Amino acid sequence: MITSGGLLLGKVVLITGASSGIGAAAAAVFAREGASVVLAARREDRLAALTAELTGKGFDAAYVVADVTRADDMREAVAFTVDRHGRLDGAFNNAGIGGDQTPLHEMQDDIYDSVIDTNVRGLWNCMRAEIAAMLASGGGAVVNNSSVGGLVAIPTAAPYVAAKHAVVGFTRAAADEYARQGIRVNCVAPGSTRSEITADWYGRNPGLEEAIHAITPQGRTAAPEEIAEAATWLLSDRASYVTGVVMPVDGGFVNR
Ligand code: NDP
Repeated sequence: MITSGGLLLGKVVLITGASSGIGAAAAAVFAREGASVVLAARREDRLAALTAELTGKGFDAAYVVADVTRADDMREAVAFTVDRHGRLDGAFNNAGIGGDQTPLHEMQDDIYDSVIDTNVRGLWNCMRAEIAAMLASGGGAVVNNSSVGGLVAIPTAAPYVAAKHAVVGFTRAAADEYARQGIRVNCVAPGSTRSEITADWYGRNPGLEEAIHAITPQGRTAAPEEIAEAATWLLSDRASYVTGVVMPVDGGFVNR
């Protein structure tokens, strides 16, 4: 039952990091816009609850437990999607972690390792599996989730900033490589958005949210649905001549 919209009508879309925050919001927005959605993340209880909520509203939703740092998990998540629906039309590669906020010279290896492993290797694992499936069914659209930290510096988050710049690099490289095979690859670069990452960062750094609002022209934190809306358009056929772009969704942050 489609109650409104239809920007993704008939599309099969895989969403990573769908158990909370921007990914959970994206699953709901994509489904509302007509997509059959497959939610992927590690926390099965969250995925099961969100999937039940969507199917309860009449949407086509399923979930698969997958860790993006494991290439086999992502191959299996894509295979699950293709087995269920016959193809993969769209992927929102959103899974990511923030890591501690610490001056670069004090940053420990474990933060570097986890942030780079999840945000860079994780994306690499996802894109390889997804693009192979899209090539097999004649095309598709990928939207990666970078950050304003993929475009400009964020203090005391060097591995995160480096990882999110790498997301932009992978986006541009893949967009160029697969354009003639009908695959578009773009990314969104969110600014401050309500989620578990920001709850953690802002909770541990009093005053940080207010400081970010002060340098954000719109002066506020986004709702996760506002990021999902941009990803919806980029995944849709309405963005048919758009590939290789980084779309800030940031209340004007990188434009100031
Ligand atoms: P959340 O912490 O709410 O969501 C992160 C999601 O990623 C969760 O669903 C989590 O699920 C999943 N995830 C983390 N590690 C893995 C893994 N190894 N394998 C599979 N899934 C994983 O935060 P956000 O919604 O904010 O984060 C989503 C994306 O948005 C991230 O890439 C983040 O960098 C980006 N972003 C967020 C901004 C913000 O202000 N909130 C700003 C700019 C970018 P689970 O733990 O169940 O696996």
